[in-house]
Amino acid sequence: MKILAFEVYDDEKPYFDKYEAEYQCEITCVPDALTKDNLSLVHGYDALSILGRSFLTADIEDYLKQAGIKCCTTRTIGYNHIDINHAHEIGLALANSSYPPTGVAEYTVMFILMSLRHYKQAMYRANVNDYSLSGLQGRELNELTVGIIGTGNIGISVIQNLSGFGCKILAYDMYENDTVKKYAEYTDLDTLISSCDVISLHTPLLESTYHIINDETVTKMKDGVILVNCARGELMDVDALIHGIESQKIGALALDVIEGEDDLYHKDKRTDIISNQKIAYLRQFPNVIMTQHMAFYTNIAVSNMVRNSIKAIHDLIETGTCSTKI
Ligand code: NAD
Repeated sequence: MKILAFEVYDDEKPYFDKYEAEYQCEITCVPDALTKDNLSLVHGYDALSILGRSFLTADIEDYLKQAGIKCCTTRTIGYNHIDINHAHEIGLALANSSYPPTGVAEYTVMFILMSLRHYKQAMYRANVNDYSLSGLQGRELNELTVGIIGTGNIGISVIQNLSGFGCKILAYDMYENDTVKKYAEYTDLDTLISSCDVISLHTPLLESTYHIINDETVTKMKDGVILVNCARGELMDVDALIHGIESQKIGALALDVIEGEDDLYHKDKRTDIISNQKIAYLRQFPNVIMTQHMAFYTNIAVSNMVRNSIKAIHDLIETGTCSTKI
């Protein structure tokens, strides 16, 4: 079984070596994303392993199928970079990956605490020997209400973490979960939006969740609301975020993901001219923290991403199915 892995980072390579031996396959790793320009590389392989910058559009999927690729797995949980319907139509098998939700959940709590305690400004000041306190007075989580939109794997884990801080927790999802009910109260979306001091998003990107945070929803929020997004950038309308920060309706933003991140994140752009004005503008506010889509990025997650991708390819080719088939 020959596998071609795209977008392989150096720190993934030891895991590829380990699982190549364990699953008795032959893996070639390349650092680039799969694009129309390097599609010809896939000839002679049985399967592909990709990350989120390799966009499997219908025409790319057609090419892969004709080139004899039997299946593709993405080492990510999210799969909005793949045209799933077309892949199903042409019989190209797909799988995503899974890893424990704990890394993203811990990162979310870190973002909430950093925002409440103005940590970005405190850190910047200390770096230039400014040890003043003005403007840095924080708020305590134990007296606040936190709203979690999306109570799947990561949302539940965030709620469990937050339960130790003594805050009131509201939750919204179409499907209620018994574990969540031990720590949080389910409400409708409007109630959550209008009554929380902190709101954190944990839904996938779907038609129903695209721009779930927009001008209208921001207007309904409490003054000084803290918004956290460690899910997908397109859940939040970036113009609404800018209006909310400028008008001081939004008290702080903590964004691991943002609309328009695709050409920037996970690349070294230090010497490039960057034309994404909205991202540059938002980044400079003292109450906006932005990181480069890295909430998932822990040793445990990376090991699981590689293992589950290789295992899925192995199972799909040997048995026609796998536990993470999409
Ligand atoms: P999950 O599938 O386990 O849970 C998602 C939940 O969202 C489900 O309970 C679902 O019912 C709910 N949902 C779907 N549509 C909804 C809607 N319109 N309103 C309310 N709830 C809705 O997913 P997960 O593993 O918890 O991941 C959540 C998100 O986090 C995904 O977008 C994923 O891509 C993202 N993610 C980001 C990172 C990162 O590094 N920043 C890492 C992993 C996952």
